[in-house]
Amino acid sequence: MTHVVVIGGGIIGLAVARELTLRRGYSVTVLEKDAAWATQQTGRNSGVIHSGLYYKPGSLKARMCVAGNRSMVEFARDRGIPVDVCGKLVLAVDASELPRLAALAERAEANGVPARMLTPAQAREYEPAVAPAAALRVESTAIISYRAVCESLAAELARSGATLHTRQRVTGIASTPGGPRPQVVVQASSVEVRADALVNCAGLHSDRIATLAGLDPGARIVPFRGEYYELRPARRSLVKGLIYPVPDPAFPFLGVHLTVMIDGSVHAGPNAVLALRREGYRWRDVSARDLAQTLCYPGFWRLARRHYRAGAAEMARSLSAARFADSVARLVPAVTAADIVRAGAGVRAQVLTRSGALADDFLIRTAPRQVHVLNAPSPAATGAFEIARHVAAQLAATLA
Ligand SMILES: Cc1cc2nc3c(=O)[nH]c(=O)nc-3n(C[C@H](O)[C@H](O)[C@H](O)COP(=O)(O)OP(=O)(O)OC[C@H]3O[C@@H](n4cnc5c(N)ncnc54)[C@H](O)[C@@H]3O)c2cc1C
Repeated sequence: MTHVVVIGGGIIGLAVARELTLRRGYSVTVLEKDAAWATQQTGRNSGVIHSGLYYKPGSLKARMCVAGNRSMVEFARDRGIPVDVCGKLVLAVDASELPRLAALAERAEANGVPARMLTPAQAREYEPAVAPAAALRVESTAIISYRAVCESLAAELARSGATLHTRQRVTGIASTPGGPRPQVVVQASSVEVRADALVNCAGLHSDRIATLAGLDPGARIVPFRGEYYELRPARRSLVKGLIYPVPDPAFPFLGVHLTVMIDGSVHAGPNAVLALRREGYRWRDVSARDLAQTLCYPGFWRLARRHYRAGAAEMARSLSAARFADSVARLVPAVTAADIVRAGAGVRAQVLTRSGALADDFLIRTAPRQVHVLNAPSPAATGAFEIARHVAAQLAATLA
């Protein structure tokens, strides 16, 4: 038996743990610092099972999202987890956005995602409250609660004999050198785990865990908060499904969109502002250590120089419900500031390189007996089972 310690109890850590237990010859321990599963990115996201429409053809994101869309829906249906394959519309709000919408349609085709262009009248058959210049319809996009997926995964892992620890923050990692069976020794809050191998799925802290394990991550996690508003219940009928803008190709984020959640509420967001703490869900959540690490990183200033205008506009929108409502009204003109109320936030773990580039694709690095999932932003929840298969294969290669 090869004993693997998985750090992080978000959807990636739990999916990796499950994948290993499904393969013969592994025993697994999961260490999660919080009191429950899926408390960070996984439990605070938009709950969308993406189609794979946006990503560069051939990239890990494209391949794992398209395949993950199917495997996530199948997993949910199999386990009785509520899932709704409701499809979505991407809107070109005016003629200037038509070329970018056409480029997106081509990308959908390249990625094997069925999508079709709609006239404004056809778009209104799906979403009566929109008034676009044109729209792209994708049928395979779905909605789910990723928290519910994680609860199911944790229950399955417990049944299959995995050792699961919450409230165990990993603080130290050492390797016993050489020997016939070298080991990884992981120190957590009150337990020490000796294992044959380690998988780092620590999300917002994955670069720090990599460093603890002796790997130079070569980049840094910069936390970008995504804030949501919610439509007041009386205005929910304005939105039937998922309504997205054409994304700005300069950024890895999709732009403020409207999402019907699996519980029936309608969320607007997320925006993208720099978080002042890695788990900083409000402006007043500040960590001197986290902020200093961001501000002392040359990549951050290179990024800031390129995008200071967009960054300032995002901050202004974060502080003003009226500005946020204006963004929503680009998609659904009837929405005003009076129709929306604040509804929480998530923080994206986004890898930034020293040259100031936001890592576009998933980034998974290996070292002997170690696999580190360093960049797993959206659509990593969608692609979780595919990422898990990839990680398990990489781990097997490091052990061979
Ligand atoms: C606002 C927002 C909206 C999004 N919308 C979508 C969407 O609609 N669809 C989609 O597919 N993706 C979406 N994503 C992306 C998706 O949520 C993430 O890609 C996914 O949840 C990443 O999972 P994870 O397990 O890597 O990270 P996390 O869920 O963050 O889990 C990492 C875990 O590691 C734990 N941890 C960290 N450090 C330690 C330590 N030292 N010791 C022990 N445990 C530790 C943390 O507590 C955490 O539980 C969104 C993300 C955000 C932020």
